[in-house]
Amino acid sequence: MGKCTLQYQCGHSATVWIFGKAEIRKSYLEWTCQNEACPACRREAIAAAPRESLTAAVATAK
Ligand SMILES: [Zn+2]
Repeated sequence: MGKCTLQYQCGHSATVWIFGKAEIRKSYLEWTCQNEACPACRREAIAAAPRESLTAAVATAK
């Protein structure tokens, strides 16, 4: 277990504590690097998108 620098898909990085076996940490870091944006970018994506999905949801509901 220990401190790792987590590189996100969006290019940002963060220092995180990851617990577990070295191989689990390694695969987690690799997966995140390829699939996950950092929390700030995810928040922005959510903030930017909802208007459309909200409209779509309303349209579907009618
Ligand atoms: Zn980011």
